[in-house]
Amino acid sequence: MTRPLDVAIVGAGVAGLAAATLLARAGHRVVLYEQFETPRPVGSGLMLQPSGLAALARLGLRAEVEALGARIGGLQGVAMPHGRVVFDLAYAELDPALHARAVHRAALHGVLWRAFLASGATLEAGRRIVAVETRAGGRASVVDEAGRVSASADLVVDASGARSVLRGAVVPGAAPRAFAYGAVWASFPDIGIAPGRLMQRYVAARVMIGYLPLGRVAAGEDPCAALFWSLKPRDHSAWAVGFEAWRDEARAIWPELAPALATLPGAEAFTLASYGHFTAARVHRGPMLLIGDAAHATSPQLGQGANHGLLDAVSLADALAAAPDLPAALAQHERARRRQVRFYQRASLLMTPFFQSDSRILARARDATFAPVAAIPWVRREMLRTLAGLKTGLLTSARSADALAGAPEAADAATPMA
Ligand SMILES: Cc1cc2nc3c(=O)[nH]c(=O)nc-3n(C[C@H](O)[C@H](O)[C@H](O)COP(=O)(O)OP(=O)(O)OC[C@H]3O[C@@H](n4cnc5c(N)ncnc54)[C@H](O)[C@@H]3O)c2cc1C
Repeated sequence: MTRPLDVAIVGAGVAGLAAATLLARAGHRVVLYEQFETPRPVGSGLMLQPSGLAALARLGLRAEVEALGARIGGLQGVAMPHGRVVFDLAYAELDPALHARAVHRAALHGVLWRAFLASGATLEAGRRIVAVETRAGGRASVVDEAGRVSASADLVVDASGARSVLRGAVVPGAAPRAFAYGAVWASFPDIGIAPGRLMQRYVAARVMIGYLPLGRVAAGEDPCAALFWSLKPRDHSAWAVGFEAWRDEARAIWPELAPALATLPGAEAFTLASYGHFTAARVHRGPMLLIGDAAHATSPQLGQGANHGLLDAVSLADALAAAPDLPAALAQHERARRRQVRFYQRASLLMTPFFQSDSRILARARDATFAPVAAIPWVRREMLRTLAGLKTGLLTSARSADALAGAPEAADAATPMA
């Protein structure tokens, strides 16, 4: 498309900032609406998979993010008290150069925020958008909770995350299904017990503790790490009251954590996250489009959500650049993202109860079968491709992360392979 569009984007999270930056750079007139007066990330850290790093490269931000984050070469999960390894996967088994980066959310947000500020897009902060109204000529306006109506736009992008109140305009009646378990997360100085790895300990599927090195929030600062603990949101108050008993329990399960546990003042150091599952049957209707968690939310078991938000933003920008008009661009974007998103949403729904549920049967099945099954070479490769964010369907994968993110130099490698 050569015509510059008026674009309203709701939500200055990972997906919204990335989309606003790319579309403004392409010459569109972009206004980004954010509910907070000062846009800020909530929570501690996340994993950027090779797929998400390739999307950041398309934004020209990969090097900056990589300089802050911690290089993650693989993941290890161990079931306690017997110490049986459930999985132990290294990205390098697929390709020696392949790795993930774990980042503090504030570090990722800072990099995306600076790029957004330089892009020419406009920010409307302190605007909680509660409705979208259609206008003549197929345009639409957003309405905030104070009743202020924006100028009309050709395209309204809902990037307001898992709790979107706008997605019903695209998928009527849409409502995420809550997972029983969420988690509490905290970040603190890295004590170096998991260099270059995400490490997890499980007791059945009821307990999951994770330790993830995150690198630095800003250049020159000390490296930090994240600790997470599975928790049902309804048990959060009781957990906070019994914090000392919890500290003892966590130390007993994972003694190497003791120095980190000792530095945590109390439950107030943790943020509670609850998870819901939602997959939009369609992502656009008229002038409105869903991206990021507004389109596909799930538990972070496979660590893909932010990566998909970045890939959505890149795919949208590419479709707007290539298609002859807006309807064709939205259709192209939906086609480009549909199969991959579906695969990961289903995989996440399938895997989550093995790691976060009250089911003893699933936990036993996990402990007995995951490691031997992962030793089968084909299965192992598929697990690694899944982890790396490379899968595009049950039996298909992108040839490379760059190809998945539509990097021009990787175009000849973009053919899905079985
Ligand atoms: C504990 C936890 C761990 C995770 N770990 C990982 C991981 O390791 N790897 C990974 O890839 N993903 C992970 N995720 C998922 C990842 O955080 C999300 O997929 C990602 O943040 C979604 O980005 P988004 O931009 O769609 O939404 P968000 O990041 O949620 O951003 C939404 C933005 O919209 C704003 N907003 C909301 N409603 C309105 C409104 N009505 N009007 C205006 N503004 C609004 C919000 O304030 C926010 O700024 C994790 C999630 C959780 C909870």
